[in-house]
Amino acid sequence: MAIFNPKRRNTLGSQITIALYRITQAIEHLLRERGKGRYLSPAQIQALLFLKYARPGVCTIGGLANRLGVTYATSSGVADALEGKRLIQRKPLSEDQRVIMLVLTSKGESEAEMLEDVLDEIEAAVNALPDAERVALLHATQAIVRHLQSAGYVIVYEMCWGCQFFQRDAHPADPRGPHHCAFMDAPLSELNSYLECPDFVPAKN
Ligand code: SF4
Repeated sequence: MAIFNPKRRNTLGSQITIALYRITQAIEHLLRERGKGRYLSPAQIQALLFLKYARPGVCTIGGLANRLGVTYATSSGVADALEGKRLIQRKPLSEDQRVIMLVLTSKGESEAEMLEDVLDEIEAAVNALPDAERVALLHATQAIVRHLQSAGYVIVYEMCWGCQFFQRDAHPADPRGPHHCAFMDAPLSELNSYLECPDFVPAKN
């Protein structure tokens, strides 16, 4: 199959695949355009948004490399550039000083907030579809993502609610947090339960 050859693009599968490819091109374009005025590369924009919403334990150079799908050296370069712009800082993790966390500065927090709407145009196009098409699209794209995830091409980050390891109100009086993560065997604060995590596994209904 060669979807890049227009003559071969005569099946439903090839037409959908090329449409998905064009959407990724549009996303890259939106990231580049937004970054131009703010002197940020697409990778730096994605890094700021990652650090804003990922759970603290994964906000490291390695975690960023996984999220961006790049090497450790490239991830380190992205972090250096953001640190040079005073948007992030490196801080040792309080529980284990050997682990260096990447943390948004207050300037980085405001910058990330300004970038949050970068994919609004894509969402608007989706919202323009009738409900039934959106539901079908959701199921179809989720199935494609699951396939790509099990093949190791993408890491899915989700928040705790809906994860099979999430135990809601497991210890309501614990000052460290009322919820529990059975995967890490650790308490979870209300705030942290809304952060994205790469170890999320959907709960069985
Ligand atoms: S494994 Fe599940 S419950 Fe634990 S932190 Fe990750 S998403 Fe939350």
